[in-house]
Amino acid sequence: MSEISLYRTTSEIQAFINLLSGKWKLPVIHELVGGPKRFGELRRDLGNISQKVLTDTLRMLEEDGIVERTVYPDTVLHVEYYLSQMGWGIYPILREMTIYMHEYETFRGSGREEEGKNCPYFVKEAIGKKRMSEYSERIKAARKALDESEHLFIGTGSQINTAYGVNLFSRLLAKKIYPDTYKLENIEDLIDRYSNIFPGNEEQFWKFWTAFLWFMRFERNVNEGHQLIAEYAASRDYFAATTNADCQLVRAGLSAERVFAGLGNYTYLQCITPCKNRVFEAEPYLVRLKNLFSKGTFTSSDIPRCPYCGNYLVPNHFRTRVISVASANTVASQEDVIRFVNKTKGSRTVFLEVGCGNRMPNIVRNRIESSVIENPNAVMIRINSDDLSFRFPEAEKQAILFNEGIKTVLPDLLLPEGNY
Ligand SMILES: [Zn+2]
Repeated sequence: MSEISLYRTTSEIQAFINLLSGKWKLPVIHELVGGPKRFGELRRDLGNISQKVLTDTLRMLEEDGIVERTVYPDTVLHVEYYLSQMGWGIYPILREMTIYMHEYETFRGSGREEEGKNCPYFVKEAIGKKRMSEYSERIKAARKALDESEHLFIGTGSQINTAYGVNLFSRLLAKKIYPDTYKLENIEDLIDRYSNIFPGNEEQFWKFWTAFLWFMRFERNVNEGHQLIAEYAASRDYFAATTNADCQLVRAGLSAERVFAGLGNYTYLQCITPCKNRVFEAEPYLVRLKNLFSKGTFTSSDIPRCPYCGNYLVPNHFRTRVISVASANTVASQEDVIRFVNKTKGSRTVFLEVGCGNRMPNIVRNRIESSVIENPNAVMIRINSDDLSFRFPEAEKQAILFNEGIKTVLPDLLLPEGNY
């Protein structure tokens, strides 16, 4: 494929605008990112659109090869619209538009355009100005709290993987794991694209998820950050909650009964319904699928099916629409988190939060902050170079904050022969 020069693209940009101009084309594409929809569903979800305008918009998108449709010969005529391969190529652009508008509005809304102080591009600088004592003082205080604690609650999020080299927004990584991708897509885009399984995309769905799950859960090594945490926790009364589904904490040595993976666990598949409160080991399915894809012999009879009800099996991950397999098999549940936190009330407990973003705050961040304010003997340690904000501001009084990198802080905090 020839490289596109960014310096001679005026005509391409004009063509792109012509292709997608009009009030409704992009909103319709956006709706179809979630999977196929019927006409009535589209109209309802788009809100303020007339039947004629939606019909015209869909016809134009079909003519341009962006949208396709399948007519199902039911008793009532049933037509489903979905994105074509070319239509999916627009998804990363929509995503960038959304991110850009968010930043633009924040910037304009701040009323300080000249200084740009509140623009998210300057977030790092703003955190740097948060009043914090010397790094060595904070490390000493945090080590002391850990030494004196009776219980340890650990929370981890995606930044711990980013710090050790797995960035789900990297396009190079996407290409490495799943070479079939478009040049512009990263793994987050691919997960969105394959977040739904339906008749017609089963093979593409499993081709992506097989490659992704295999890399994330089985092929990749356990990184040093997780090893440090697991080695430290081994001699402690601990419990962990994570938004990561890659099972690194358990692979590093923590007990599966003491790790709540709130957004799912790539070790398992589950029934999409789900008809039973249980999960299935993914490995044998993935080994088989990898083999079929490499030989190119995958057929519809190879689609993983629930042994109980025959519906699709899907990765145990919130982005494939379903999760909630509370206390299934050996997987720790939300109730186990609550039981542990209740047990620690009033006693010296450290809540160690490592690299948890604010996108799904209820699994870790809010849980930790709200638990800390209910226990005057609790100390919170938050390591986060992007976002040190609080949903429960009172918790900050009991917190030791680190905006330094995870790779710097974790060894200083957890290694027995630290310099502090
Ligand atoms: Zn089932």
